[in-house]
Amino acid sequence: MATFKTKTLYKCRDCAATSYQPVIDRGPSGALQATGQYRCGGCRNIFASIRAWWEPRRNPEFKPSVFQPSAFQPSSFSGLR
Ligand SMILES: [Zn+2]
Repeated sequence: MATFKTKTLYKCRDCAATSYQPVIDRGPSGALQATGQYRCGGCRNIFASIRAWWEPRRNPEFKPSVFQPSAFQPSSFSGLR
């Protein structure tokens, strides 16, 4: 009989640890609350999201920082009629 182990598929991209914990910090009201960030249980790095924790680093894709639709008018189409 197959036994299932509850084991996360994810692991730290840096140290391959399979555990993490939410970062708890004191908010403006003085109450402890989760910041939405996560700390790796292995290397103790802090990540902005779980995805950032497990997702392998990739070369940053080049994207133009400003996309201007107005500069993308297919003015040549007017001559295709
Ligand atoms: Zn780690």
